[in-house]
Amino acid sequence: MMLFGMIFLGFLMNLKDFFNKANKGHWAIGHFNVSNLELLKAVVEAAREAGSPVMIGTSQGEREWLGLKSAVALVKAYKEDWPNIFLNADHTKSVEAIYDAVDAGYDSVHFDGSNLPFKENISETRRAVRYAKSKNKDISVEGELGYLKGDSQLTNKKIAITPDDYTKPEEALKFVNDTGIDRLAIAIGNVHGINLDEPELDFDLLEGIRKAIPKNVSLVLHAGSGIKDADIKHAISLGISNIHISTELRVLFRDGLERQLKGNPKEYALYRLEKEVVDSIKELIREKMRLFGCIGKAH
Ligand SMILES: [Zn+2]
Repeated sequence: MMLFGMIFLGFLMNLKDFFNKANKGHWAIGHFNVSNLELLKAVVEAAREAGSPVMIGTSQGEREWLGLKSAVALVKAYKEDWPNIFLNADHTKSVEAIYDAVDAGYDSVHFDGSNLPFKENISETRRAVRYAKSKNKDISVEGELGYLKGDSQLTNKKIAITPDDYTKPEEALKFVNDTGIDRLAIAIGNVHGINLDEPELDFDLLEGIRKAIPKNVSLVLHAGSGIKDADIKHAISLGISNIHISTELRVLFRDGLERQLKGNPKEYALYRLEKEVVDSIKELIREKMRLFGCIGKAH
């Protein structure tokens, strides 16, 4: 039994294996943010039913709410049913908070030094990479270059971005080489949240960055919620292999729950109120997975 278990474990792919597969096959791994059990359940069940690998994201705020150890324990428990799920510490703004996530047992960390001066972003990201890899050789580490505006909310505001905020190919190469990251988050016109205008992605710039950096480094597109499906597909064809979705899940959860509460004023069993909400979120995740081309890719 023990031996069988060990042989079985030998066939499991880690996150880096999946990224190699995605980069070669021109598809993308979805990254969905969660802050409660219902969202986590929706992501895991959708991934299992779709036969997809998936990343579960928790920003600093989201994981403070869930608790780092609880988040790791929950994902570990869900891995028994579907092992192809990977927990990421999304948008981590300090190296010390990276240490905490690595020590808690996260599968992946994202150090976001995009608001730091270039040199400092390199040195801090390198510290994060060194620590993470010294503790866990399978961990995947993401760095970020270029300034991503907005936060994961619905806004009526127009968010102004200038070419100065964009990732530059020459800097991307230096950044990747000097830090040793596995994934690079880039700013090519994407904006966090769902905004008044659909963002215009700079596809020439994306091509330039993809050509400039080594093939084994994956490119990450944050803020996927506000981007047109056709643009997502185009971005994947040009080398994006990881897409973040957060705001759409938040909106669906909040609006769905509101409808359930209004429609069932006498219902107090919370799980009954939440069932349809979770189902609608699963459906959205499945649609995104179809768009990302990752359905069935865990088999
Ligand atoms: Zn993001």
